[in-house]
Amino acid sequence: MNKIIAEVKVASCQQYEKQEVEKSMTNIIKDLFQKSKFEKGDRILIKPNILRKASLQSGTTTHPVILECVIEALLGSGLEVTIADSPGGSKSNTLTEFLEICEATGIVDITKKYPSVKLAFINAGIREGKFIIYRNLRDYDKILNIAKLKTHILTYFSGAVKNIFGLVPGKHKLDYHAKFPQRRAFSKFIMELFDHITPTYNILDGIIGMEGDGPSKGSSKYAGVLLGSNNGFAVDEVAMGLTGLNSLKCLYMKDNLEIKLEGDLPSKTKFKEPITAMRGVNLCYYLENIERFNNLPIPLIKENYCVGCGTCMKICPESAIQIIKNVPRIDYDKCIKCYCCYELSGCKAIELRVK
Ligand code: SF4
Ligand code: SF4
Repeated sequence: MNKIIAEVKVASCQQYEKQEVEKSMTNIIKDLFQKSKFEKGDRILIKPNILRKASLQSGTTTHPVILECVIEALLGSGLEVTIADSPGGSKSNTLTEFLEICEATGIVDITKKYPSVKLAFINAGIREGKFIIYRNLRDYDKILNIAKLKTHILTYFSGAVKNIFGLVPGKHKLDYHAKFPQRRAFSKFIMELFDHITPTYNILDGIIGMEGDGPSKGSSKYAGVLLGSNNGFAVDEVAMGLTGLNSLKCLYMKDNLEIKLEGDLPSKTKFKEPITAMRGVNLCYYLENIERFNNLPIPLIKENYCVGCGTCMKICPESAIQIIKNVPRIDYDKCIKCYCCYELSGCKAIELRVK
């Protein structure tokens, strides 16, 4: 297989303080402009990670200071900027819910500070080949991916590559979970989707990331790093290397990358793997089906924490959850272990447990 040479800019950064972030990002921003070949008046779509309502300290979403630094550079060069996303959630995400998430994650403050920056809620799709993606995506000249460094209970890691799944409108995201119930097939889909969309440039916010059961139920963890590259797979490979995660366990990765690192490397930080991480990579490569249904944890309802709101039922792509007398019941014959209920319900009433 032909090797692909990818350059990754790396910068240490200790905190989300505007001046410090700006200084740390100097080479990444320079590289962003060199690689993106912007033309005056270009319309830029920024795809952050705004998965759900979460505090900035939780390490769930792209920090607004990172977005601000990039946006100031783009606006200063006469470019038009739109921030767009489809947060995780139910089949019927509304604009109101989207705006609440944007408020909680600092995105609304950015649009107030920079009034020319637009906000787009991705709720309608169009088919392109085998993918259904944001209907207006091709109205933009360049796509800029500004992701968060996190572990992921389904795909092992969530960085630049997985972030692009947010360019699929909400309802269709759940359909894809149902269509590709096995981890390997879903990861392959994510890899192909990223290749299809191919953002112009990828920045990874890893000052504070998430370890354990990410992308929303893990614990925040300091890694003190910012990464940038026009190759999203290379960004994720470097991020996993710096956090002691094993990229062989992340099934959407490519194995033909030759990475050239440039910059100021922070010291390594060891991130905890998600509970679903494969134990023996090579064995599981061949036993994916058996592993999936015999060894992976199942979602369980802790009734004393449950308020019977029904969110988990609306989220489940397989309709495996029914609310009976105000209590969710999971049909494990239907459950594909996508963990959307656990990840996105926003309650403490769902846990994962190995049978
Ligand atoms: S498990 Fe959570 S999301 Fe589901 S009904 Fe109970 S509180 Fe709501
Ligand atoms: S019950 Fe939860 S883990 Fe199982 S298919 Fe539904 S959303 Fe996915």
